[in-house]
Amino acid sequence: MKTKGGRTPLHVAVVMRRVEVVKKLQEAKGTLDQGHPGDPSIREDFDPEVMVYVLDQMMVDAKVDVLFNTFAFDAVVEDNIVKGVAIANKSGPQIVQADVVVDATGDADIAAAAGARFVMGREVDGRAHGGALMMEVGGIDIDKLMGYLKNRPRKTDGENKKLGEEISRLCGGGGGRFDTLLSLDGKRGYFSMGGLDRSWEEVEQDRREGRFLKLPGLDDEWLQFIKEGEVPPLHGASRVIYPRAPGLNRFGLIKQGKMRYDQTNTGMHETFFDQTDEKEISEALIYMRKLDRIFIKFLNERIPGFEDAYIIRTSPMVGTRESRRIIGEYTLTAEDCANGNWFPDVIAKCGRACNVHSLTGIWGEHIWLEPKRPFDIPYRCLIPKGIDNLLVAGRSISEDYIALGAVRAQPNCMSVGEAAGTAAALSANLGVSPRELDIKILQEKLIEHGALLFLEDEEK
Ligand SMILES: Cc1cc2nc3c(=O)[nH]c(=O)nc-3n(C[C@H](O)[C@H](O)[C@H](O)COP(=O)(O)OP(=O)(O)OC[C@H]3O[C@@H](n4cnc5c(N)ncnc54)[C@H](O)[C@@H]3O)c2cc1C
Repeated sequence: MKTKGGRTPLHVAVVMRRVEVVKKLQEAKGTLDQGHPGDPSIREDFDPEVMVYVLDQMMVDAKVDVLFNTFAFDAVVEDNIVKGVAIANKSGPQIVQADVVVDATGDADIAAAAGARFVMGREVDGRAHGGALMMEVGGIDIDKLMGYLKNRPRKTDGENKKLGEEISRLCGGGGGRFDTLLSLDGKRGYFSMGGLDRSWEEVEQDRREGRFLKLPGLDDEWLQFIKEGEVPPLHGASRVIYPRAPGLNRFGLIKQGKMRYDQTNTGMHETFFDQTDEKEISEALIYMRKLDRIFIKFLNERIPGFEDAYIIRTSPMVGTRESRRIIGEYTLTAEDCANGNWFPDVIAKCGRACNVHSLTGIWGEHIWLEPKRPFDIPYRCLIPKGIDNLLVAGRSISEDYIALGAVRAQPNCMSVGEAAGTAAALSANLGVSPRELDIKILQEKLIEHGALLFLEDEEK
């Protein structure tokens, strides 16, 4: 298998499918596409306004009828065959009839309404990934911030140890910059979720070249803030602990030189609630917005360079990592991912590790399972058992909770979404149900569109 541009083979496998969107984002100057220093995965932080424009234009070019501000709240089902969906928007409630329905709600809302069976959370206690609210912060004096971080007195090993212990006590264990890696074969180890992996010379060069900055953390200052009683306990954690410090390790500079565009994605306030229950979602949103105000107060008051910083916006909806997972014709397992299993009905090739965050808020419960080689997502995972004319795309396909840690990654969701849409169109055109669709026809069409389904050393 060939690699491209120095990337590892695993990540070449996942990048192929989103080339079109990335290219359009680059053309519209909505991303730097330079990745994160020291991070082997390929990610593009992007300007969300440019992304919205790019996607609008792609819809127009594809002659898609778009209905914004529309909520699908029910499925029209006859004899276990989905015939359409019930939607509501400014024009009132409506029924949309369809030959094939694709549920891309991320929560399997339509599948659940149609009576498809599903599971939520890990098997042992039903706990699932937390939800999170991203925020963008502007008005940061980056040079002043970097000067502050560079010139902070260096801690002795003893002081660092003490800091780690205090973080453990107040923020849920773990300590320092490390989280626990649990592998399925029983190995335990530690890996860094961020922090300063680069020398200051490299960071300064990144700054000059407009790359994403990885800056050291603010644990010391944040612990002081917690001790002074400024921070509320973490919502939904399995015991009383406090949120971690806002992070600077992925400091996306979307537009150089314009402070308004300088932003930090904290993503720190992963909180725990049922992400299919609107009352719980709303309570969590109120908590997360309050926490954002506490973050910005902390940054304004305690961190040089942030004196005039302000929240540009918080995301308009809560970010969900996990909710319903359907029971499909095949359930992708952790072993499938770890072993890099290949399936005759592959519709997406994935290289990402199963990244299962702590489901309790307690550090050290993070699972990171690296696949031996890229693994396949079979078409059967998109087909709910016992229901016809319905395909499920995105993070809620049929998988166990560890496999979800890999499938939920955006490139994989995009690949699965494209496969679901293509399968729906082919099924409708050929007059067959998605369950009966000839997998070879689907695979040929996906490959024609640029999908990477088979590696060079793989027999079809
Ligand atoms: C804070 C956070 C950080 C993350 N970081 C990363 C990362 O670094 N890299 C990575 O690859 N992944 C990351 N993820 C995971 C990734 O973003 C998600 O798993 C992925 O977006 C899921 O894609 P999806 O298409 O299944 O669902 P979504 O992206 O959630 O899309 C579902 C869409 O359907 C709409 N919808 C939902 N219900 C209905 C309904 N009933 N009617 C009409 N519309 C509806 C929603 O509004 C939404 O637009 C992160 C997630 C979060 C929350």
